Amino acid sequence: MVGAAIAGTASATTNEAVGNRWCSENIRMANSGNTLKKEMVARFHETAAKGDAAKLSTMLTYSTSLVDEVDEKGWTALMYASRNGHFEVARLLLEKGCNRSLSNKSGQTAQDIAKFWGYRTIADLLANPTLAAGTGTRPDGLQEENENYFGRTLLNKLSEKRSDSNWLKAKQIHPATVYILFSNLNPLVISPKYNESRNPDIQLCRLNYEDVEQVLAKPEVTSVFLGVEQQNRTGGSQMKCLESEDSADDDGLLAWFALNSNYESADNFKIKSPGCCFLQPVLPHLLNLNQEEAGVVAQARSVLDWHNRYRFCPTCGSDTKVTEGGYKRVCLKENCPSLQGIQNTSYPRVDPVVIMLVIHPDGNNCLLGRQRRYPPGMFSCLAGFIEPGETIEDAVRREVAEETTVNVGHVQYVSSQPWPLPSSLMIGCLANALSTEIIVDKAEIVDAQWFSRQQIIEIMTEQDHPISIPPQQTIANQLIKQWLKKNANL
Ligand code: ZN
Ligand code: MG
Repeated sequence: MVGAAIAGTASATTNEAVGNRWCSENIRMANSGNTLKKEMVARFHETAAKGDAAKLSTMLTYSTSLVDEVDEKGWTALMYASRNGHFEVARLLLEKGCNRSLSNKSGQTAQDIAKFWGYRTIADLLANPTLAAGTGTRPDGLQEENENYFGRTLLNKLSEKRSDSNWLKAKQIHPATVYILFSNLNPLVISPKYNESRNPDIQLCRLNYEDVEQVLAKPEVTSVFLGVEQQNRTGGSQMKCLESEDSADDDGLLAWFALNSNYESADNFKIKSPGCCFLQPVLPHLLNLNQEEAGVVAQARSVLDWHNRYRFCPTCGSDTKVTEGGYKRVCLKENCPSLQGIQNTSYPRVDPVVIMLVIHPDGNNCLLGRQRRYPPGMFSCLAGFIEPGETIEDAVRREVAEETTVNVGHVQYVSSQPWPLPSSLMIGCLANALSTEIIVDKAEIVDAQWFSRQQIIEIMTEQDHPISIPPQQTIANQLIKQWLKKNANL
């Protein structure tokens, strides 16, 4: 308590000192007009951009009108806090009554800016400030970190239930259980046109047992237990109070299953869900799912693809049977070596891919390449599969050297992204180049160039620019932003 009291005094003194300085500056500025006001606003914005909540609070005590002041780009302090990932500052400004719906001259609100730069928690706060009100720290207690598309899910996988066949059976026929259906690995969705909430995102068509009973009865259809809906999450629906025959099994957990049936017609489900269709082509549409459902699709699509391609035992070629809620295939041949011990051939697989933004030795240019299959004008980060016996760092160095002859030194991991096409894990890195000459290996890519920060900013902000980079749902886009973030505000 003594310590806390001293700490309290110390911070009060600091605030007072800052306050006094601000008080006198305030008076001076009132006397000398516009330039000084501009300067004061600039200082206020800079403090927000740096994330100094205490100083900002003191400044506001002496000049409450600063809260919504804009600069010549139309930016507010809230926008600068959102741009730089300062949750506490954003919350403070909201508490002080700032207007979160203001737009800057590019038409972006603070929430747009937070979303654009990948600060999901701040974007959520700005979408619904009352939810976070009253909590002393960030709601999840984590540092703001990159959260990539396909990486967020509304399910708890509850993997311990995969071996509980009675529980799984009860959940399969439970009237509240959610089924999502795929045809040739394309999910059944409700297009935005038919979506009551008028959300531009594509939403999964959520079916129940009676909708899929006939599909389930087909021998070739595999069902995969995906998990249960996480409780107490905003936007996640709780288990509805539907009557169950066997209430002993009713633990209140809302289970989700995925099914793949290649010859299903969407028409069969239009009574349940008018306007539903199987999503295709898979790209770019798979990138327009509701963010929390994207993670569910990533999980389901990869596991269903594994069932399609690994029907037979990889060890002996015999038939297999599906167990563990769709998470294991067991060989049916007696004495098959795969039946002894734990074999990775029996479980769904993930293929690691490195994807890297290579940074020029001068720090101000980055290396992007073009694959033949890209849309015209699109450049992206280099990428490639990790080979057996290779570290992430070595895979980055080898791929960059193979594709462009550029030598890479230090490699830094940034974040990862599940990529369900069909089952990769993209491991995102920043890589420092040691050399600059580019010789393109035409077998792998058609072009590779150094791009300056300024060029990248133009590509990202100018509409109709002849060059493009992948959309923000991709880790390539996030890596490029990660590099830009290290510099001034956009
Ligand atoms: Zn076998
Ligand atoms: Mg390659």
